[in-house]
Amino acid sequence: MESKGKRTLGIVSEHVSAILKEYRNQAVVLAVGLAILTILSCLPYTPQGPFDARDYTRVAGMRVEQHQWVELIEPLAAPFQIVAGAPDFRVAGGSTLIWLLLGAGALGMFAGFRSQSKRTILGIVLKGIWWAFVAASTFMLVIFLFVAARIPGWRLVVDNPDLIVADLHSHTVKSYDGLVSMQTNLKWHASCGYSLVGLTEHNQLFSHETEMPAGSSLDLLPAVISGLEVHSGPRAMVLGLCRDPGIQLTEPATDKEQDPTSWFSRQIHEDGAGAVIVVTQNDLKTDDIAQLADGGVDGFEIVNCGHPNLRSDLRQEVLSTCRSRGLVLVASTDWHGWGGMTRTWTVIRAPGASALSRTQRANLAIRKLRGRNPVDVIPVVAGYMGEPSMMRAIFSPVAETLRYAQELSPLRVMSWWFWVAAVFVLWALLRRTGAHPGRVLLALLIGGTGLGLIVSGVSLIGQGAGGAASYSVHIGLMTLSAGAAALLASLIEGLLIVRKRRYQKLVSPSLASSVPL
Ligand SMILES: [Zn+2]
Repeated sequence: MESKGKRTLGIVSEHVSAILKEYRNQAVVLAVGLAILTILSCLPYTPQGPFDARDYTRVAGMRVEQHQWVELIEPLAAPFQIVAGAPDFRVAGGSTLIWLLLGAGALGMFAGFRSQSKRTILGIVLKGIWWAFVAASTFMLVIFLFVAARIPGWRLVVDNPDLIVADLHSHTVKSYDGLVSMQTNLKWHASCGYSLVGLTEHNQLFSHETEMPAGSSLDLLPAVISGLEVHSGPRAMVLGLCRDPGIQLTEPATDKEQDPTSWFSRQIHEDGAGAVIVVTQNDLKTDDIAQLADGGVDGFEIVNCGHPNLRSDLRQEVLSTCRSRGLVLVASTDWHGWGGMTRTWTVIRAPGASALSRTQRANLAIRKLRGRNPVDVIPVVAGYMGEPSMMRAIFSPVAETLRYAQELSPLRVMSWWFWVAAVFVLWALLRRTGAHPGRVLLALLIGGTGLGLIVSGVSLIGQGAGGAASYSVHIGLMTLSAGAAALLASLIEGLLIVRKRRYQKLVSPSLASSVPL
């Protein structure tokens, strides 16, 4: 038994040393890249904090971590962490896509120029366009999977059990644009470190807690505050977070003098024993802030993951208004079930909270919001969120990759070394067999992504089934179709690779074993 193992080990090490000799230059380039990644990760600078979102100072007694199973597949999750950890994920995603199109197009044209067959300008340009198309569609497909499969990102870990980690703004399939069930919502929140979740459906108040399944698994889920999100005037949205979700809300009086925010705040405060928070988004004008504060709200969101690009004049206005009037600031996800990588938490100081029941914890958090003490309510964010500088926006792929490298833990760096070495050896072995490694690995990536999308699509359809949630069924069907198309494309590519290889063997057996397809 032992001798057999030793023999296998001997064969493997022989192969590996032969590959290293044959592809020495490529191995050196990869090793240098990994060494740079390792050095960057060792720098004491931690760009993801966690920070107090009011002034971006580091908050003590808490840290951000990645999920352990994500660490195992670190290089696969890296593109998402690079984009999702940027100041505005939409800007970083757009910038990356443009660079990818340009880079793949240039490489394709270069490959067309170098190809042995008779070259024409049109042929070279077409090859560039084809490469750009393949690269961009693969990128979009993988991003689609990341969004539909909800790959989790940053998790906040607090040392003190009396700190309540809350997300006061999120949605389920009860909202017309929500993708996930309440159970999925709460499980996802638990995995990101939350102990309290505000389920703030659009325009309607539900008693979520009464729908919770009984049993011991309940203890592992965050406590729930039932709430709602409504329009308050032409540009503003407000959240009502209720201790008593059984109240009947009435429409604002038709009287033109009646301010809708005051009307809503009074009902939530008096009938629902709750708290009111303004959703801060760029539709607001700076003059609106004082008017909303006059409406009797308890605080404002200072960051919202769904709307990360808050204008700096608006941000300053919110900060100064809350400071002068003694209102709290919170950091919300506004999670609708898209993606899993949010990075905002509201930490509430609540001595004795760890000994409380779920309902008591929710009620204490509402009391703290109504108490409006900025020392007790801390908006926390991993990394900077807001408008990026012009240079950071244009060179997003480089800037965000540098940022990403600096936040890596030793385990995540080790994951990179392992996967790069594994893919390098696989690449070399594929070349030896005469197959084109690039084409084989791309087909595997697209096929794997397709399978993932099919599974995610079925899961999304399941979230909406049984309720009136046609939105998640609709998105689930879209995901399923994209997955099926990707799987089909990879199967066709696989067949083409096999056929071409058979043909080459027929024409020239020696060629097939030495030249990649
Ligand atoms: Zn919302």
